[in-house]
Amino acid sequence: MSVASALAAPLPWQREDWTRLGARIAGGQLHHAMLLSGPAGIGKRLLAELLARTLLCRAPVAGTACGRCRDCELFAAGSHPDLLRVLPEEPGRQIRIEQIRSGLTGFVMHTASVAHAKVAIIDPADAMNTHTANCLLKSLEEPAPRTHIVLISDAPARLLPTVRSRCLQVRLRPPPPDDAVRWLRETSGADDAPDLLGVAAGAPLGALRVRERAGLGGFDRVADVMRRATRAPAWIPPLVAECAELDLVELLDWMFLFLLDLGGVLARGDVAGARIQRAAPVYTELLPVVSAAHAARSLRRVTEARRDATSTANPNRSLLLEALLLDWHEGVAARRTA
Ligand SMILES: [Zn+2]
Repeated sequence: MSVASALAAPLPWQREDWTRLGARIAGGQLHHAMLLSGPAGIGKRLLAELLARTLLCRAPVAGTACGRCRDCELFAAGSHPDLLRVLPEEPGRQIRIEQIRSGLTGFVMHTASVAHAKVAIIDPADAMNTHTANCLLKSLEEPAPRTHIVLISDAPARLLPTVRSRCLQVRLRPPPPDDAVRWLRETSGADDAPDLLGVAAGAPLGALRVRERAGLGGFDRVADVMRRATRAPAWIPPLVAECAELDLVELLDWMFLFLLDLGGVLARGDVAGARIQRAAPVYTELLPVVSAAHAARSLRRVTEARRDATSTANPNRSLLLEALLLDWHEGVAARRTA
């Protein structure tokens, strides 16, 4: 199975959700506003796209977009005039109020130009501040005929309660761990599927993204550096230099995952339940010398460093990493000599 065909959707763990939504579409009873929520990397976006494609298709087959009609062709070409995607202009930024006030409101008010329906996807819906969300509220409160608004969010609690309450809430879940491993293996041929899922908190598409980006090489490097940094402080600058090929934020993210998993190992007192089993030998070595409190403190420092690294224009990479590793070393050295 190729990745593309595996992602043609509905994903296996979303089939029941899709069957319910498909039945509502077929019965003409789909709510005008829907909120698809659930953890990152489980396929919310794919389901929203499938929903939009099926609503816009003029001849669905067995309740799903036919893939052949004019509407499906326009959708596939990314130029369907009755589909509006409202996204932040850059990832991580807010959706601007104008994108809702004139963009979405105008789109909703115009009659459908080609198909028999119109769909707007707001992704992610939690990237709207209160003013922007209040603007959206009007479109949610006064539904236009044959018009659907689909909101996507990893963090639905951040949405205005008034926005949430006007949507049909579809809470999507990750698949059970064994199913996730099997799907990832079949889709990508990954032999390190359990570890990929471990770093992606069990989210299959998140794991697939990790694999497609650069795999787990960065994690292995960071785990090795963290292990060796507990030994001798004079090694720390060369250890930092060893990570030169990793982007600073990426490196801090790997450190975060390493410390998070190690924290779980320390709390349980054994490595059997570690989420990222490839690091089990490192965890085993560190178990007697790292305290849970020190791991937790280091985790907080990494979180702060990541915030600094993304909010400062030019963070001093070497200083920042050396300080983190030195602090990590000193906390361990204190326990080794205690
Ligand atoms: Zn079609």
